[in-house]
Amino acid sequence: MPESLSPELIALRDTCADFAATHLATTDSSAETRAGIRAAAKAAGLFTLTQPGEGAGTTSQLGLCVARETLAAANPSNMDSVFSPSAGVLGGVTGTLAETHLQPLLAGEKRASFGFTEPDNVTPTQGVIKDDQLIVNGQKSYVTGGADADFINCLVHVEGRGPSMVVIDTDLVGVELERKFVSLDGSHHAAFKFNNVTVPRHHIIGEPGQGLPKAMRQIGDTRLLFAAQASGYMMWVLELLKEYLSATDKSGEPRGNKDVVRWHYADLRIKAFAARSMLYRTARLADQGENIVNEAMACKVFATETVGEMVDTAIQLVGGIALVEDHPLAILYRKVRGWRLAEGASDVLRLNIGRGILELDKGRI
Ligand SMILES: Cc1cc2nc3c(=O)[nH]c(=O)nc-3n(C[C@H](O)[C@H](O)[C@H](O)COP(=O)(O)OP(=O)(O)OC[C@H]3O[C@@H](n4cnc5c(N)ncnc54)[C@H](O)[C@@H]3O)c2cc1C
Repeated sequence: MPESLSPELIALRDTCADFAATHLATTDSSAETRAGIRAAAKAAGLFTLTQPGEGAGTTSQLGLCVARETLAAANPSNMDSVFSPSAGVLGGVTGTLAETHLQPLLAGEKRASFGFTEPDNVTPTQGVIKDDQLIVNGQKSYVTGGADADFINCLVHVEGRGPSMVVIDTDLVGVELERKFVSLDGSHHAAFKFNNVTVPRHHIIGEPGQGLPKAMRQIGDTRLLFAAQASGYMMWVLELLKEYLSATDKSGEPRGNKDVVRWHYADLRIKAFAARSMLYRTARLADQGENIVNEAMACKVFATETVGEMVDTAIQLVGGIALVEDHPLAILYRKVRGWRLAEGASDVLRLNIGRGILELDKGRI
């Protein structure tokens, strides 16, 4: 098995499996249900798992992957309510910004979103430092949860200094919520315009010009967790298929007796095994302090493409009933499609891996 887990991680996995069975079986996503899940996650020690130094005894990358994969393997509707928001690019900030933004974020009192993607053919979001202020102009086109966010961690090109991560409060004069939209999986996003928005200079995270590595680190960590989540959903699909293919069809034969069906099923299991092996190896490398930038990209590309193929094939094997709008496979089909674009399009990540090896002589894969 790719896992080979320590007793502590086996205990964490069991806690997550029990939690999913007890608290995540519902399809109701009302505010009341989500609040109940948050309270239960706090009691189970899962809520703060994403915050350094707290949680159910571990905050290792492997622990986070185990937790996320195990919860996803239950195909829950409300997985996002289990964990507190992570610090993201605000990790390690001190002083005023820690008090006004990081601490309220971790306490669940303020909501953050991430502004990186911009529309094609527009000038990148620019900032000009004037004394103690930064004047920001530009646009962000795909900000998940943006309409409900108190602030956006935005990539801004600061004149004379370069790309910087800047905390922009959404209630500032000149922040225009241009459009709200819903993507295929039902998640909510927003597009913003910044028209001469005046931001306190200390809202630049770290040194001006150091923003890109910070943003990429957050995206890198998230990529591995995407892979863990995809891997959990793979396990759910494989279990669903096992049950379905073990049952008999009209002829009285188990559905899985047909060679072609069995071939497809085995192929999916091989790919899931490969995706999980990559994930667990990469999480262990990360916990040893290794730079896993290439491995995380590889895990994200392979896991998100594999889960997409798996849901697609499962629909084919189960037949037309799986395309009825509220069938779990139809819901999952809509859920996983965006993952091949969010946090880096597969094509672009492939190019980055190729560039690392061919031009920069970096990376192990
Ligand atoms: C569910 C979801 C949530 C998201 N949440 C956020 C968020 O919170 N914050 C945020 O900032 N963004 C978010 N995004 C946006 C996401 O990061 C972008 O969709 C993704 O980076 C691709 O950018 P794009 O959509 O502009 O497409 P493009 O960059 O136009 O890419 C489209 C295609 O063009 C090709 N292509 C693009 N660039 C290159 C290149 N350099 N070389 C070769 N081929 C290339 C590839 O085939 C690629 O798939 C989210 C997206 C989704 C689907």
